[in-house]
Amino acid sequence: MVAEAGDEWSLLLWTSLAVVVPVFITLWCSVQRSKRKTHMKEFFRKSKHGWHYTDLFNKPTYCCVCSQHILQGAFCDCCGVCADDECLRPADRSLPCKDIMAPAQADGGMEHRWVRGNVPLASYCVVCKQQCGSQPKLCDFRCVWCQRTVHGDCFGDVPDQCDFGEFRSLIIPPHYLYHVNKLRRRHPDEYSKLAESCGSSWTPVLVLANTRSGNNMGEVLLGEFRSLLNPVQVFDLSQLNPSKALQLCTLLPPGSVHVLVCGGDGTVGWVLDAIDTMKLKGQDQFIPRVTILPLGTGNDLSNTLGWGAGYAGEIPVEQVLRNVVDAEVVKMDRWKVQVASKGAYFRKPKVLSMNNYFSVGPDALMALNFHTHREKTPSFFSSRIINKAVYFLYGTKDCLVQECKDLDKRIELELDGERIALPSLEGIIVCNIGYWGGGCRLWEGMGDELDDGLLEVVGVYGSFHCAQIQVKLANPVRLGQAHTVRLVLKSSKMPMQVDGEPWAQGPCTITITHKTQALMLYHSSEQTDDDDSSDSETESNTPHDSPRPPGSASARA
Ligand SMILES: [Zn+2]
Ligand SMILES: [Zn+2]
Ligand SMILES: [Zn+2]
Ligand SMILES: [Zn+2]
Repeated sequence: MVAEAGDEWSLLLWTSLAVVVPVFITLWCSVQRSKRKTHMKEFFRKSKHGWHYTDLFNKPTYCCVCSQHILQGAFCDCCGVCADDECLRPADRSLPCKDIMAPAQADGGMEHRWVRGNVPLASYCVVCKQQCGSQPKLCDFRCVWCQRTVHGDCFGDVPDQCDFGEFRSLIIPPHYLYHVNKLRRRHPDEYSKLAESCGSSWTPVLVLANTRSGNNMGEVLLGEFRSLLNPVQVFDLSQLNPSKALQLCTLLPPGSVHVLVCGGDGTVGWVLDAIDTMKLKGQDQFIPRVTILPLGTGNDLSNTLGWGAGYAGEIPVEQVLRNVVDAEVVKMDRWKVQVASKGAYFRKPKVLSMNNYFSVGPDALMALNFHTHREKTPSFFSSRIINKAVYFLYGTKDCLVQECKDLDKRIELELDGERIALPSLEGIIVCNIGYWGGGCRLWEGMGDELDDGLLEVVGVYGSFHCAQIQVKLANPVRLGQAHTVRLVLKSSKMPMQVDGEPWAQGPCTITITHKTQALMLYHSSEQTDDDDSSDSETESNTPHDSPRPPGSASARA
């Protein structure tokens, strides 16, 4: 009996050990890992490199210190130096990063800054034109400024001077910033004089990326732009707001700067608001031109300006920069939406900026439903496809509810002070641009004149009509054009939205007036070699030259 009890006890002991030991080991490992992570974070923050830790390199990678193949380690997204765990500290100490600010040589030029090994796939030697980096070891060199690559064997025959390569017209050279910093008198004329050394067609670009839009795309783009440009001209909007980032414009020649906003329409609006603030601060002359790399989906403003509705890596970032160089400047109206709630005389009216459209009715309800459900279960909405499906479901559900019924009896519409008689409808859309509702063109030619100081006002019969417009089976009802739009909601709560930001609004007066004009860059569709004239007419639909459809002049009912 005693022996049996002893067996039971030892069995129990071994079983519990078998359970406890792995749990303990796992816990210990995760504690160690998180300890190392916070330790690394601190180290990365202090480093002059832009280190990123990874245990999955997307191509064979070799340590710049010990030349060994790396499975786990870090790379710098500015200069491209790679190091394994053991060599990370020596690498950080001994290898310099890209200098964001440095004096030029006596003759005004600059030497290449070579980094050894890990050259991009499919890169060719600048001397012998053969492929580089084809051997499985740390070999060959890449210049961090001009991106040229060269074999170790051909290294002696490379010309000394670095010309900053293909994107020299977009890069802020380290010597420019060095000399601006040394100026005794900071004046735009001095900047223009300094800029002469940067070439006649120098239009430096500032990249402002929102890492919160479009899944992980913003993070990836930041790294790619830091590696192609001067890291000082690339900003993470989750670290620094647009107003602060745009202050770099005041150190560059007036009228030369382009800003590339990587984010959704909301991010673009945020940057445009910051530019309007520059005007208020008397920095008019430094105002940049704005271009867009749309992240996320359904970006109507970006679509209107020819940059597409959403970027997910379809073209390499080099091509994105080429498109920025080729783009043309257009002016775009921005509008002020004032919402004065009924009865709240002592409260300040809500003021919003509008670039795209204002709407009241079924499409705003769709956006509002979607918005509230996304707030409740955010993880569910992280995928693009699910987003689209859910958006569609909420849209069609509304067909049954008819919440916006008889809008025409509850609302008054005034265009430039003139009361408009409304047909029986459920929604009103006030448009500045040609696209609406996440990629739908209301009709060809509409909203193509972005700087005419006019808003286009249309009505929809209901959510089913909305859906028909989305798939181009119907047109909205044109109500007219105006410089100033006033809407009075007399009773009940209605869903409303400005540029895709929805809310529920009680009785109120809404006034939409002109605010400012922004300078935007327009990307015309790619020119095809095909010389078909009817084709090219629709292809090159620039905001300025496209004819308006007949009857587009105010067709007031
Ligand atoms: Zn190493
Ligand atoms: Zn670096
Ligand atoms: Zn170079
Ligand atoms: Zn070579």
